[in-house]
Amino acid sequence: MEVRVLGSAAGGGYPQWNCGCANCEAVRRGAPGARARTQESIAISADGASWFLINVSPEIRSQIESCSALTPRASRHSPIAGLVLTNGDLDHCLGLLSLRESHPLVVYATEAVRAGFTTGNVLYRTLERFPGQVTWSALALDREQPLGDSGLYLTAISTPGKPPLHLEGIRPRSAEDNIGLLIRDARSGGRLAYFSGVAGPSDGVAQALAQADVFFFDGTFWSSDELVVAGLGTRRAEDMAHWPVGGPEGSLAFLARQPGRRILIHVNNTNPILRDESPERQALTTAGIEVAVDGMELSL
Ligand SMILES: [Zn+2]
Repeated sequence: MEVRVLGSAAGGGYPQWNCGCANCEAVRRGAPGARARTQESIAISADGASWFLINVSPEIRSQIESCSALTPRASRHSPIAGLVLTNGDLDHCLGLLSLRESHPLVVYATEAVRAGFTTGNVLYRTLERFPGQVTWSALALDREQPLGDSGLYLTAISTPGKPPLHLEGIRPRSAEDNIGLLIRDARSGGRLAYFSGVAGPSDGVAQALAQADVFFFDGTFWSSDELVVAGLGTRRAEDMAHWPVGGPEGSLAFLARQPGRRILIHVNNTNPILRDESPERQALTTAGIEVAVDGMELSL
């Protein structure tokens, strides 16, 4: 299985357009050890020819252009065979609306995520201009299913989280609101786990990580009160359904115990691990945990 990290930042990206925090300022002035990142998405492939994107960020157009494997091979063509959504957050779905150029799309999502994106959404009509423009393939929890005929197989695992902000309070919560993925390559036997949004510990998540050769995990915040302390907001990490990495209750100790290669993704622009020289980043390195960066390539 080939993996390309298209975007490694949380919603808003790094730097964020309306943020002048120390991290965002560092990357704007070109400080050493600070690298810009687009919003989270990865591409996976069994054969290097046909690709599946996990999450479709608002920066999808530039992300495709940044990765030659994803650009067309003919006058109207795309090597992108399907799109997988892990939840309905706008930083994971908004890019779908940018793929409106009359190209048939196959989208893998839970029924809750599909309904949340399509119901009452007049903008979605731009993806319903002809029959078959979008084919939704429903992801059922805890059941391995094929990604087309790619040779990749995917299991959706309900993961602690919440519905997207724009649906809070108007739809009942569902175990399908937020999922992680275990992806198996039938030929190589390689297993990739993908959990970019995790609100806290769970047996399902732990079981998936224990099986993975490589995993990506929620690296949104270092500390619970990161936004509060920086004067940038009132909500704690847990209020936004993200398990902070640092601190006595953080995910760091849990991640350090896992057998596979461990990579944090969906990193918020306020997180000190974005700076290569920070003590928090050094703590990760000591624990054998990496931080994803756009353009990262893996083979498993
Ligand atoms: Zn910032």
